[in-house]
Amino acid sequence: MANAPSAELVVVPCLADNYAFLVHNDATGETALIDAPEEGPIREALRKRGWTLSDILITHHHHDHIGAVDALRPGARVIGAKADAHRLPPLDLQVAEGDTITVSGQTTHVIDVSGHTIGHVAFHMPDAGYAFTADSLMALGCGRLFEGNAAQMWQSLKKLRALPEDTQICSGHEYTAANARFALSVDADNPKLISRIEGITQARADGQPTIPSTLREEMLTNPFLRADDPAFKGVLGMADASDEDVFAHVRAAKDKF
Ligand code: ZN
Ligand code: FE
Repeated sequence: MANAPSAELVVVPCLADNYAFLVHNDATGETALIDAPEEGPIREALRKRGWTLSDILITHHHHDHIGAVDALRPGARVIGAKADAHRLPPLDLQVAEGDTITVSGQTTHVIDVSGHTIGHVAFHMPDAGYAFTADSLMALGCGRLFEGNAAQMWQSLKKLRALPEDTQICSGHEYTAANARFALSVDADNPKLISRIEGITQARADGQPTIPSTLREEMLTNPFLRADDPAFKGVLGMADASDEDVFAHVRAAKDKF
């Protein structure tokens, strides 16, 4: 059970491998949507439950995260990064790092997680224990560096890593199985990774999402969160390298994998 106020989380598969998320407050009847990849599945998820959208939160400007905002926005408040307002659908509320807003009755913190894009934000709901990270921190991975550099992404991931360990990481794509193959290629002897992958393989065989994951399991198994771990540096043969250089090395290796 989530802490009060109630915050029921629904994971909505969209497009080929995207996820949108609904957070519903039973007491107030509000429902927040985080990212809007595709209208049909989101409308169906709402219709089945008799919910209507009160808020739409946007993580970043890529089309697979904003494509259905305009179709879904009537009646809802659209929230996104001030820094990206020029390339997002019209925003009813512009937010930036450090802002605290109330969404679906949930206190929600805005975290700048630039790297994949500049202006990418994550939304953390501390009482419910959800973090919506989209294409920053992902299950066993992190987003590609399209606009930012490795140092920026590493700083962003460290901010997310500082959240409570039981935070549920609600990331934007079902990339986990492919991320797992890469993680194993750089961290083959990590028993926690090996056992996590067994669970991932089973979930996918059953057609179940692997999202959300917990921050705790990411800290133990996600190679992109372990660039400052001396043991992992040793495994990579980079014992004397800076954390940023180790992160950049792992990110570049994943790009070529
Ligand atoms: Zn993206
Ligand atoms: Fe994406």
